[in-house]
Amino acid sequence: MSGRIIAFVNQKGGVGKTTTAVSVAAGLGRRNQRVLLVDLDPQANATSAVGVQGRGRAGVYEAMLSEVPVTSCVVTVPADRIDVLPSSPNLAGAEVELVPLMARERRLLAALQDTRDRYDYVLIDCPPSLSLLTINALTAADCVIIPVQCEYMALEGLSRLVDTLDLVRRNLNPGLFILGVVLTMFDPRTRLAAQVVEEVRSHFVQTFTTVIPRSVRLSEAPSHGQSIFLYEPAGKASAAYAALADEVLARTGVAV
Ligand code: ADP
Ligand code: MG
Repeated sequence: MSGRIIAFVNQKGGVGKTTTAVSVAAGLGRRNQRVLLVDLDPQANATSAVGVQGRGRAGVYEAMLSEVPVTSCVVTVPADRIDVLPSSPNLAGAEVELVPLMARERRLLAALQDTRDRYDYVLIDCPPSLSLLTINALTAADCVIIPVQCEYMALEGLSRLVDTLDLVRRNLNPGLFILGVVLTMFDPRTRLAAQVVEEVRSHFVQTFTTVIPRSVRLSEAPSHGQSIFLYEPAGKASAAYAALADEVLARTGVAV
């Protein structure tokens, strides 16, 4: 299988990275895949979105900085049939603490080595920056999924992201590729949203067929510590994320 480790990346905040990482993780869990969700954002939104408290327990920070085995830091979320490697506020300090370390770009890659035979998919939720944490994610990943919000100037900043992917490919991770671009927060009532979809599709042939609709339920689910599949199983948002998870399965070589 190609594309086992997937980073959800876009240096813009609020475009749907965390929502998409959490929902695809849960969608793959429902398809009986063994999934590890890695929360690499110090804000720990993915951790809390699946009902886990990151503060005060070992998580991705300890795995990267103190070489604590990932397997002893993961928390199982039975309702979504996934494991999560939690973030915590001390991850914010990692940016600075990583700088003097040997192989500072490869700490996450090293930490994730012993996930190879335990998980079918490792999904990394990146912070909203092209920082050293994100570089660690891009170095560890086989491929990336880029969430893009259906809004004015949607493509703004994406050329910088593409440049960063090229840089990582040249220096750290030659095999890194874009698995897909996913359009989020689509509002069918606006003409702008439809234009954005067309524009993004014309720039990125890898754009997923599935478009994620704007949904109040999706914005409510995290505060209940539930994925959309638990919070609103029969809604349009869970249908969309189930379809996206199936596209991910198909693109990574798993028949659905
Ligand atoms: P990022 O991780 O890129 O910063 P988030 O996934 O946290 O983005 O999304 C930003 C905000 O938008 C959050 O409050 C989230 O709940 C909300 N949101 C994400 N996707 C949708 C959607 N499809 N419809 C409505 N709200 C959404
Ligand atoms: Mg986020």
